Amino acid sequence: MVKAVVGANWGDEGKGKITDMLSESADIIVRFQGGANAGHTIVNDYGTFALHTLPSGVFYGHTTSVIANGVALNIPVLAKEIQSIVDRGVPMPRILVSDRAQMVMPYHILFDEYEEERLGKASFGSTKSGIAPFYSDKFAKIGYQVSELFDEELLKDKIHRTCEQKNVLLEHLYHKPLIDEKELFNTLISYRKMIEPYVCDVSAFLWNAIKEGKEILLEGQLGTLKDPDHGIYPMVTSSSTLAGYGAVGAGIPPYSIEKVVTVVKAYSSAVGAGAFVSEILDETEAEELRKRGGNAGEYGATTGRPRRMGWFDCVATRYGCRLQGTTDVAFTVLDVLGYLDKIPVCVGYEVDGQEIKDFPVTHLLEKAKPILVELDGWKCDITGISEYDKLPENCRKYIEFIEEHIGFPITMVSNGPKRSDIIYRNI
Ligand code: GDP
Repeated sequence: MVKAVVGANWGDEGKGKITDMLSESADIIVRFQGGANAGHTIVNDYGTFALHTLPSGVFYGHTTSVIANGVALNIPVLAKEIQSIVDRGVPMPRILVSDRAQMVMPYHILFDEYEEERLGKASFGSTKSGIAPFYSDKFAKIGYQVSELFDEELLKDKIHRTCEQKNVLLEHLYHKPLIDEKELFNTLISYRKMIEPYVCDVSAFLWNAIKEGKEILLEGQLGTLKDPDHGIYPMVTSSSTLAGYGAVGAGIPPYSIEKVVTVVKAYSSAVGAGAFVSEILDETEAEELRKRGGNAGEYGATTGRPRRMGWFDCVATRYGCRLQGTTDVAFTVLDVLGYLDKIPVCVGYEVDGQEIKDFPVTHLLEKAKPILVELDGWKCDITGISEYDKLPENCRKYIEFIEEHIGFPITMVSNGPKRSDIIYRNI
């Protein structure tokens, strides 16, 4: 069976923890989109880890970790990440990398930086990991697939054509140093050495695994609202964050994805620019939640940037869950809200004096004001509770209120960062 674990919102919903937890009974965990621009934080017996490229199931000895064709593969970052977990006592994981995955090139990272610099105030708040230039090149058909590293003549010829084009931009648009063909070739040969042990035909591997009845998890990065088609375009990421894209980004049949676990955080947070309707505008109030949030505060796993904080947004989450094709909601980081007397929840938007319940297109979203209702807090620490009925009444009311407003079943409630901090709910 194939299950996808994806986010309903802006990312950082706690997908890493849920994937790590579900990996216990999985055979294969697949990254199918995105790159090293976002990270998952995972807390387990080996310690606390921020993963950027490896799937979150990598800590179990019995799983195979797959980086599929849809990923923006940064080879040195992957090599470093493997080394860093092995150095901390994690057994060497079994890793497979698609021969069709495309590589983030050194110049993608530079172009990302230079373009943000050029845009100045109008910049996207990119993590400067090269993701947007990478996907632009992929769809402009000038990207490099991993398999191409193994044909030196092809590589030399392609590098020459790349430099012809990129160096014009570097010289005349960005006024920066040019790419040296030989140096780029040598870099790519060093990438080949790093990646060689892992390269395989991933879609064939997964096809056989599906036929053998293996348990496969597709791990999404970011969330629905960062999807380039359905998110808050243009403040989105450059690859699809939807479970449906899992079929394309991993090369498996769409009908093989039987379960979509959508991870939803008990409050909102977002990084980067863009409309964020339920944002907490009072900085003291926001900082209080930010400090308490997640496992170690709401600061980006990749960049350390403080995240923008907001109250739970039913409009955005209902939309986010619908686009994912949610079968189950995993409701996370609920324990963090235990300090609040009253908890505001956004149940609608007001746009040009009209109340709306459906998530609008970006230019209307920019004008939206939140319609908030306040629920009573539960004023205690719920970490350690393992049965739903043992949760305080106001906490259950909060969960059930949100479930009703988003319209998808909350079957898991996460009340702490550890694997064991989970409450299953049969509904
Ligand atoms: P991801 O990209 O969706 O995996 O999100 P993050 O890596 O940003 O995860 C959110 C943060 O919340 C991480 O620091 C997790 O360790 C932490 N976390 C996940 N679930 C819970 C939870 O239920 N309670 C608490 N307190 N922290 C959690």
